[in-house]
Amino acid sequence: MVDGIGRNIDYLRISVTDRCNLRCLYCMPEAGIENLEHEEILTFKEILTIVKVVSQLGIRKIKITGGEPLVRKGIINLIRRLKDIEGIEEVTMTSNGVLLGDMAQELAGAGLDSVNVSLDTLNKTSFNSITRRDCLDKVIYGIKKSVEAGLKTKINCVPLAQLHGEDLKNMLKIVKEYPIDVRFIELMPIGFGKSYSPVSNEQILGEIENEYGRLQRSKTKHGNGPAVYYDIPGFRASVGFISAVTDEFCENCNRIRLTADGNLKLCLHYNKGVALKPLLRSGISREQLKIVIEKAIHNKPVCHSFNSDCADNIELRNMVQIGG
Ligand code: SAM
Ligand code: SF4
Repeated sequence: MVDGIGRNIDYLRISVTDRCNLRCLYCMPEAGIENLEHEEILTFKEILTIVKVVSQLGIRKIKITGGEPLVRKGIINLIRRLKDIEGIEEVTMTSNGVLLGDMAQELAGAGLDSVNVSLDTLNKTSFNSITRRDCLDKVIYGIKKSVEAGLKTKINCVPLAQLHGEDLKNMLKIVKEYPIDVRFIELMPIGFGKSYSPVSNEQILGEIENEYGRLQRSKTKHGNGPAVYYDIPGFRASVGFISAVTDEFCENCNRIRLTADGNLKLCLHYNKGVALKPLLRSGISREQLKIVIEKAIHNKPVCHSFNSDCADNIELRNMVQIGG
């Protein structure tokens, strides 16, 4: 559906858990967070009800996120059932890749359309210090198995200023040799993200162009989001940039979010939303739920305010709790 300022909202990110097997510096504290109790998390039945309703409002694409979505029991079955919902054209996932190796084949069999693996560095020491876990080999294995299983696979990289440099060369090697797009995502000042310095995408593009000359914007369609892609001559895949901080793309925002505890979030940056869980658990009809969601989408915030010090209702939770 079209929101109050004319944006076509067709994409829903669903966080299925607030648990994670990594502890990325900018997302989660070392000691973990106080996890939601089991009954606070939406059941698959509740998620499916919401998706059936939003599909009638024009949602066509679903991204499964978390926490780490692959730690939620039964996730493959959820994907299969989401794919069966009339109107849903695409179900994709963002994962840290740790469990992907052993699940890729089944995920592909369930109809998952693509997977974005979050990987900020290919250097083991840096990986261990960013994620506070020693899992780089598992993630690489996960990416390999994902490609082998026929899943369209991309890497999402959030470069941190203090760890930048050699990593860029290694990431570009992947783009050169494999059919795997690498997207650079600017660190957002949300939760622990506020404690680290982002690397601007302009800087990364500049470094790549210093090496390879002026790059051409990719003519191929790569996805549903705000990423801007470039091709490098002779490379098998493309490089993408998601510049939420330096190049605000709110006027084209097509997405809404559902947190693991059932809050419909209309913008990543604000803590406001609509608590759908109590409505579902008090027996709201699908027609009534549709009206509630329709109204919320109509009132979707016009833009984030990452670059303002004095905005109201700012999201204070960490990304692991809201899904990224
Ligand atoms: N665990 C999964 C993963 O890592 O892909 C899914 C959840 S994670 C919160 C989703 C995405 O948010 C990841 O790509 C992660 O790098 C990104 N992310 C987390 N905190 C961020 C921040 N402060 N700024 C930008 N991206 C962030
Ligand atoms: Fe976990 Fe993903 Fe957050 Fe890293 S970015 S701590 S993998 S939820």
